[in-house]
Amino acid sequence: MILVLENGIGAEQKAHVCRLLKRDGWSFAEVQGGTSPMFEVAGKPGQDHTRLRELPGVVRVIAPADPLKLAGRESHPQDTVVRVGDVMVGGDRLVVIAGPCSIESREQALTIAEEVKRFGAVLFRGGAYKPRSSPYAFQGMGEEGLKILAEVREKTGLRTVSEVVSPDKAELMLQYVDVLQIGARNMQNFELLKCVGKLGKPVLLKRGLSATIEEWLMSAEYILAEGNPNVILCERGIRTFEPYTRNTLDLSAIPVVKRLTHLPILVDPSHATGIREKVAPMARAAVAAGADGLTIEVHDEPEKALSDGAQSLLPEQFGQLMRDLYVIAPVVGKQMDLGYLDKAESVRRSRPGQADGMLRVVFPGESGTFSHKACTQYFGNEMIAVPMASSREVFGVVAAGDARFGLVPMENSLSGSVHENYDLLLEYELRIVGEVMLRIQYCLIAHPDTRIDQITRVYSHPDVLRQCRQFLAVQRWEQVSTTDEAAAVRMLKERGDATEAAIAGRDAAEICGMHVIEEGIETNPRNYTRFGVIGFRPLTAGPYRKTSLIYETGNRPGALYKTLGMFADKGVNLVKLESRPLHGKPWEYMFYVDVEADLESAANRSVLDALREMTDSLRVLGCYS
Ligand code: PEP
Ligand code: MN
Repeated sequence: MILVLENGIGAEQKAHVCRLLKRDGWSFAEVQGGTSPMFEVAGKPGQDHTRLRELPGVVRVIAPADPLKLAGRESHPQDTVVRVGDVMVGGDRLVVIAGPCSIESREQALTIAEEVKRFGAVLFRGGAYKPRSSPYAFQGMGEEGLKILAEVREKTGLRTVSEVVSPDKAELMLQYVDVLQIGARNMQNFELLKCVGKLGKPVLLKRGLSATIEEWLMSAEYILAEGNPNVILCERGIRTFEPYTRNTLDLSAIPVVKRLTHLPILVDPSHATGIREKVAPMARAAVAAGADGLTIEVHDEPEKALSDGAQSLLPEQFGQLMRDLYVIAPVVGKQMDLGYLDKAESVRRSRPGQADGMLRVVFPGESGTFSHKACTQYFGNEMIAVPMASSREVFGVVAAGDARFGLVPMENSLSGSVHENYDLLLEYELRIVGEVMLRIQYCLIAHPDTRIDQITRVYSHPDVLRQCRQFLAVQRWEQVSTTDEAAAVRMLKERGDATEAAIAGRDAAEICGMHVIEEGIETNPRNYTRFGVIGFRPLTAGPYRKTSLIYETGNRPGALYKTLGMFADKGVNLVKLESRPLHGKPWEYMFYVDVEADLESAANRSVLDALREMTDSLRVLGCYS
């Protein structure tokens, strides 16, 4: 039996595993030369090896008949991202598939597709061949249904997902749909698995009704073994003794699968619960547990649905769920990007104009900073993010047209506005054209063999050291300031001193191959930064959700009050108001204001005109979504 340990496990943790193995009477020896640290472990006959999986730092226990050759993380440590048109399943942006259980008519499919697209779904689902428990139940529209799916794709631009029930239909299906779904009842239909493996197109592989995680992953292995790397897993609930819900959603499968394999995993809360009102809570929980996305049944007239009406969300309920996910996703380091498809299309279209065929985005600091992460979360991975020495350089490069966009921090939830970047917006003729919010979590990072009690010095940006004050207060470490936190990790690596550490985000540690000793060491966990995308024009067309303004009212009684009253009268919701001293004019102030409206759209012209009348100077920093 082989015990696979976490890559980059520290010496202290490894020694701890050895102690526990010894305590429980296992004999063991370290295996040299693998891509991950491993122990070969042998026990007495009948000794229960299942508990070995629970040891800290153990990723996997490989029993002799368990060759996850292709699906396992050992052979492929990086996460797999499956591409479906412009949609990337498995990246930092959540992917939501939505649509009816079955395609019932052209009107039904098109109506629902328009609705789910409006609320942010990026792929459309609908069964044309339905494997039903009863032979007398609706069996699907067959090829007619596939033709409707193709029309939905044509009219809405949404790529489509539909279930394949037999190998002889697979090729036909691919003329009409983009992702072949293997349903729960077919998870171990090995001929079907081999068939979709040979076709090479994206496959959504649902977990069988009574399948263990290992059996499910072996089914994925069948598809991969035929040379098709585009496998997306889907947890949809399993049969248990609990009859209240249709199935029992095994949410713990998400972290288990994430550790064992590199394949993306979606969750289907519709089939898992079978009850409309239970779908949204489980969908939210799935995202919180680290799922890469969801597949959800939506119907505009669920009471008339030919299958699974009882578990289908109404379009408005789906929209509300998407809003919730928009809030939850950043907490777990992801984004629910409600403008996903429009943005992806613009990124794709803007490429040919660039010298190297890619959209260029510049950000301040080094690779691995949160500004860098914000670039990929906003634009996706198909662009080049270029680090710059400073925010001023970012503005200079974008103003000169050498990069189409820049991305800079505008505001932190604990420390407030980043005034330098507001000043640069005033100085350059650039606008805020987008925003993205990230949760900021810091890690204590050191060399792989460093124990926390060996550390004597720690590097990071002064703001970061301040945000981790409580954690640092109990250590007697020398604190050394660096220009940004990713630079601190790079320095740590270059100096090669096992008594030193750095504080930065996890990405910076991964980029430099350093070890995370402790995660989440910031004093206040509600630590978010709002990044502004800067440029001349937004990536996508309006109307936009928000407008950022800066204005001066002059030192007159009630001057600010009048502007705010005008917003109230016109029904414009204020989401930020901050005063800032004017340079060289003691005790006079300008105001940063964000409102939830597109003030440059025709409908809101009168608001902007009224504001101009009331202020001494007014600058629209940008309208964006
Ligand atoms: C479906 O997606 O409509 C379906 C039948 O799912 P499952 O195979 O998970 O039951
Ligand atoms: Mn269904």
